[in-house]
Amino acid sequence: MPDRLTVLVAAYNEQEALPALHPRIRAALDRLEGLDGHVLYVDDGSHDGTWRALQAIAAADPRVALLRLSRNFGKELALTAGLDHVDADAVVVMDADGQDPPELLEAFVARWREGYDVVYGTRLQREGETWMKRGSAYLFYRVIGRLSHTPIPRDTGDFRLLSRRAVDALRQVRERNRFMKGLFTWVGYRQCAVPYERAPRLAGNSKFNYWRLWNFALEGITSFSTAPLRVATYLGIATALSAFVFACFVVVKALLFGDPVQGWPTMMAVILFLGGVQLMALGVIGEYLGRLYDEAKQRPLYLVDAWRPSAPSEPAAP
Ligand code: UDP
Ligand code: MG
Repeated sequence: MPDRLTVLVAAYNEQEALPALHPRIRAALDRLEGLDGHVLYVDDGSHDGTWRALQAIAAADPRVALLRLSRNFGKELALTAGLDHVDADAVVVMDADGQDPPELLEAFVARWREGYDVVYGTRLQREGETWMKRGSAYLFYRVIGRLSHTPIPRDTGDFRLLSRRAVDALRQVRERNRFMKGLFTWVGYRQCAVPYERAPRLAGNSKFNYWRLWNFALEGITSFSTAPLRVATYLGIATALSAFVFACFVVVKALLFGDPVQGWPTMMAVILFLGGVQLMALGVIGEYLGRLYDEAKQRPLYLVDAWRPSAPSEPAAP
């Protein structure tokens, strides 16, 4: 039996991009020798014709499996659902919009055969993206690199190959607030990078606006670091120290020069400053508390609406 490889694609409203992407995935799979290639598309509760497009693709290609979630759960959970449903020796995670070139599959598989468990694509360039997006991504990877205990490779998306044991390890992670880029690294084993040029989208628009990216960044930071909590502590200490120094100054000044009723502006400044610092620290704690609450509810990570496995590649033994 040849090794099995599954390409896992999460798609949300990608009806135009998918029919263009699939032939390229197929061609890439055909080029791999001695591998039984499959594709699993996860429809993350799309509102457009994505599911219909996927059904057409699956009807024409027995190697395609389909999974539809009951609603839009977001890319991280769509990938999780996909990983829960694959049964292969290696999985390649890829975007549906053609930004991750399927042509890189061969390079990934070559590294995997050398014994690497996680082979990730590192972007050399991001074409067709605004400087704002590139800039914020740049900043994000540097900040999280500083804060996280798990070193998260820079400029690396979800595009990567995972070995069987890496997938098995990921399946054991059932946390709700999942930051996949971090989790992929968290599993450890042997990891290596393959550089590539990130292409522009084939069709449609990015599903991540800046608000979503900001929340995504918060997700990443809070899932992989408690540094913000410590910052709150240090901010508290620094404020208390400066308050002490200021208090000494006020007392000495009052002793030396008397204390006519004065100082309303100073008082307001101090009160507002302290209030701001306190609210900020509370907010930081709240971010973590809210996530704790989410975890405590123990809801299922996602719900499946439809599951259509790919046709078995070998005819069943008589
Ligand atoms: N995606 C998804 N669920 C979502 C949002 C996005 O499955 O709720 C998929 C989307 O279809 C695409 C991938 O995640 O395959 C990356 O999304 P996008 O291209 O919009 O992000 P960008 O490349 O702009 O960061
Ligand atoms: Mg994209």
